[in-house]
Amino acid sequence: MLLLECPCCGVTAEETEFHGGGEAHLKRFGPESSDQEFEGYLFNRVNPRGVHFERWRHVNGCGKWFHAARCTVTLEVFGTYPAQTVEPPQILRELISSKRPGWQWREFT
Ligand SMILES: [Zn+2]
Repeated sequence: MLLLECPCCGVTAEETEFHGGGEAHLKRFGPESSDQEFEGYLFNRVNPRGVHFERWRHVNGCGKWFHAARCTVTLEVFGTYPAQTVEPPQILRELISSKRPGWQWREFT
């Protein structure tokens, strides 16, 4: 069972109090984009074995969305941060790099 801390209200609870919203930090494409870009935005998602960045909503609490970084293998939660953040905070990036040396970072913008 995952234990997540909502960065909006500070409550730590089991995952059943939250609802997963899929991959975080998706690059969005609008009406001016090509069909291929828009198709990728709609359907293509990463499914990593390891560090993953996800969207979660605190449905049985404050109701707000946030992001979580966790390991899909061990279920270790590295941290959570506000959904308005365009990329993981530097302190979280340093923590993940120290715990998963050699893990390859991707561009978030
Ligand atoms: Zn909350």
